Amino acid sequence: MKGVILEVFADVKTFATLKPTDKPSTKGIKNIPFLDLKLINRPYEKDINAALKNAVASGWFVLGEEVKKFEKTFAEYCGVKHCIGVANGLDALVLLLKASQFPPDSEVIVPSNTYIASILAITLAGFKPILVEPDIDTYLIDPAKIEEKITRNTKAILVVHLYGKCCDMEAVMRVAHRYDLKVFEDAAQSHGATYQGKKAGNLADGAGFSFYPTKNLGAMGDAGAITTNDDALAERLRAKRNYGSGKKYVFDYQGLNSRLDELQAAILNVKFLNLDSDNFIRQKIANRYLSEINNPNIILPPANTVNQDAWHLFVIRVENREKFRKYLTENGIGSDIHYPIAPHKQLAYREWNNRTFAIAEKIHEEVVSIPLNVTLTEKEITYIIEKINKY
Ligand SMILES: *Cc1c(COP(=O)(O)O)cnc(C)c1O
Repeated sequence: MKGVILEVFADVKTFATLKPTDKPSTKGIKNIPFLDLKLINRPYEKDINAALKNAVASGWFVLGEEVKKFEKTFAEYCGVKHCIGVANGLDALVLLLKASQFPPDSEVIVPSNTYIASILAITLAGFKPILVEPDIDTYLIDPAKIEEKITRNTKAILVVHLYGKCCDMEAVMRVAHRYDLKVFEDAAQSHGATYQGKKAGNLADGAGFSFYPTKNLGAMGDAGAITTNDDALAERLRAKRNYGSGKKYVFDYQGLNSRLDELQAAILNVKFLNLDSDNFIRQKIANRYLSEINNPNIILPPANTVNQDAWHLFVIRVENREKFRKYLTENGIGSDIHYPIAPHKQLAYREWNNRTFAIAEKIHEEVVSIPLNVTLTEKEITYIIEKINKY
């Protein structure tokens, strides 16, 4: 038993052997990865090993105390009545939509620029995604463009708090109320983000979260959760994630096997303790980028002055993105693209390939994500800013 559990971190030596004096000066910086999950998880080594050991010793591996504890903690954190742990973020959205009991030909409105999981969730639940363009400045669904897409089959709006920023929920809710639509949040990138003082996950009828390892709160494998204030919906969801069974061997629904894993929950219970302080660090890094990057070739994301941004990603826009990324690589700065191909241009949705969503396409052509994570040092941030300003 010792082997697997206690040697989880055995190969994570780099950080441990780095003494403070080994820190490179701004000039000596050679390589800043976009994201290093080993470094991210390094500070939790002892606590996670202890938590895993406990969970293993409990002998209870599915829907046990760790899952219960995480559900309670995360519900309280979001300010909602219910949190239902599930296997991953995609399942969270699929289950949320399935449990809403819409008729089979229902349409669900979703932004045309998102990680494809938001759209897959709608088709997997058996409904029709209706794409609505984003606002070019915020990258979030443009509420002014929702109404023209509403038909008598429209049943819900699935907003996506992309890159960690909450959507304009007041405007979205106004349209939703006028047409009696449900509103769901894809909160996979916005753990801890707020809108008018309320947290993501508590802004609509229900929300799906992902704890994929790279998210603001990340497990060490797949994990997800649904949050809602709707008692009846929560009860259906608890059954539907567990084969449709509320009571052992009694099946009221045709459900999935999509339970939050007990060991992943144990890890999340440890990592959750740093969610707010991690988000605070992200905010500080983002503030430096926003105030110090002044290259006219770079379009910065909007600063959020009223609502708290979770800053899951710091996404800039630049023409001739490949040239810019090559420059970053040459200077040892990792970057990524979220995302390179718009969902309607993917073969998965080949029936949409000839359609035009000009704003989503422009965003997909120009976005570049620069490093933003809690392991960055001030010197590295300074270096990144200097290099970008010199481009
Ligand atoms: C990560 C992500 C998902 C899917 O979460 P998984 O846990 O990977 O299934 C859904 N929507 C968005 C916006 C995401 O970023």
